[in-house]
Amino acid sequence: MTDSPAEPTVFERIVAREIPARIVAETDRVIAFHDIAPQAPVHVIVTTKTAAYRDVVGLAQGDPALLAELVAVAQGIAAELADGEFRLVFNTGASAGQTVFHVHAHVLAGNSLAGGLEEGTLAGA
Ligand code: AMP
Repeated sequence: MTDSPAEPTVFERIVAREIPARIVAETDRVIAFHDIAPQAPVHVIVTTKTAAYRDVVGLAQGDPALLAELVAVAQGIAAELADGEFRLVFNTGASAGQTVFHVHAHVLAGNSLAGGLEEGTLAGA
């Protein structure tokens, strides 16, 4: 089951090359680009080219292989741009901080993440 929004999201427009992005990885079904407002030394958005899924729950239910591919791309980015270790964040729902309703993961990497969930990107949540 899919749940595509009526209007194209900013990520759908990046996939369509309608607006620019600093793309760091791409497969047939997944694309990754630097977040426009980075919250860590490495902060990359990994998203699906399809706009069919608004969040990770829908993606896991609808196409688990695509979710696995997204995670594999995230790992490759962390290996290429950092030391291979990373935090993978899926904000799910507006009250959890999701603002773009096109499934995506935040790949956060770099030594400032060592403090744990109570520090860094989740501070003040
Ligand atoms: P979320 O709040 O989990 O939905 O994440 C949306 C993320 O998309 C935020 O971290 C934004 O900074 C990021 N973002 C929004 N517009 C762009 C853009 N044009 N290029 C790259 N990242 C963007």
